[in-house]
Amino acid sequence: MESLRELYKIGVGPSSSHTMGPQRAAKKVMELYPNATSFHVDLHGSLALTGKGHLTDDIMIKTFAPKPVTFSFKIDELPEHPNGMIIHVLEGEKEVNAIEVYSVGGGSIRFKGEVANDIELIYPHTCMDDILKYVEENRISLYDYVISIEGKDYEVELHKILDAMFESVENGLSKDGVIQGRLKLKRVAKSMFQHAQNTRREAERERLYITSYAYAVAEENADGGLIVTAPTCGASGIVPAVLYYSYKQLNIEKKELIKALAIGGLFGNVVKTNATISGADGGCQAEVGSACAMGAAIMAWNYELNNSLIEYAAEMGLEHNLGLTCDPVGGYVQIPCIERNGYGALRALDAAMMAKQLGYLRKNKVSFDSIVRVMKETGQDLSKAYKETSLGGLAKEIEL
Ligand code: SF4
Repeated sequence: MESLRELYKIGVGPSSSHTMGPQRAAKKVMELYPNATSFHVDLHGSLALTGKGHLTDDIMIKTFAPKPVTFSFKIDELPEHPNGMIIHVLEGEKEVNAIEVYSVGGGSIRFKGEVANDIELIYPHTCMDDILKYVEENRISLYDYVISIEGKDYEVELHKILDAMFESVENGLSKDGVIQGRLKLKRVAKSMFQHAQNTRREAERERLYITSYAYAVAEENADGGLIVTAPTCGASGIVPAVLYYSYKQLNIEKKELIKALAIGGLFGNVVKTNATISGADGGCQAEVGSACAMGAAIMAWNYELNNSLIEYAAEMGLEHNLGLTCDPVGGYVQIPCIERNGYGALRALDAAMMAKQLGYLRKNKVSFDSIVRVMKETGQDLSKAYKETSLGGLAKEIEL
């Protein structure tokens, strides 16, 4: 598996595959061709169908600036992934190269022909069964396992990621107004948070807090604010919400929360390695489903559950999001995405609570690795209309 540094990335929304990935691709091409005078980009598949709403052209224009760039939107897919593009590099009138590049989810990119062997795979294990067996045999915690591979200095990075996540929650909670784009969606996280502070009903208060935190980040993301991919931009509200809730409402210190963050990342990395975290590839189960599994693992760790119960919580977090479709209205990462982050955060909390109870009553028969395989197959069976194309579902139902 790749480093967690490739999973948690600080950047701007609204979409890791449609903004962060193309931004990285443009930067790389600029480095490779300093003498280029202009560019033309063919956006294919999902990048063509939802690129406008996801601000793909916008971020590429800014990245290539001051050099000019033009676009063609082509709905056919390139062979290696639904999010493909060809960047034509021009020097004057002459095309010096046409580079095929794929945005494969979570802001990661792959140039054509680049195979898995070219990527630095620093983890010796690729599935959760093997990781759990290894930590049990060596009597170390899942966190120690992560640090033994990422290095002690990764703790500093984890603190930075946690702080960036908390900043995105606080930024979102402080803002009113309308989110950019044709939906004219009003921000509601701040009001929800105020309601949580004022309500007398305790059960409602806790759930409103956590929902408002998830909304805060998802609204920031939709508005092009600074967020952390967890594992993607579209699903970036869930992990910060459970962490901020643990910090503010459960009084868990940051030095403990970075451990939870690393463990959540480990589960996300297993999904990324064995299935997909890209909505264009697997539907929203790959984004919000994966984030929910990560959030559930985080909460299970925070509740001090053992490794098999942490796995149980994460498994539930993904299992009950199976088949979740990606059908963003107008191509904006707003409806259903923002609400779905709130819902996903609550589900993560519930999964940890249920694992805590159920795990002592009977053994879970579904492993995390099994559910990851099922998610991958389900994603392959999903119609393209439900994989970030805005051709079906809510996107078809709600006209702008
Ligand atoms: S529906 Fe889910 S996968 Fe699709 S853009 Fe929204 S958050 Fe991402």
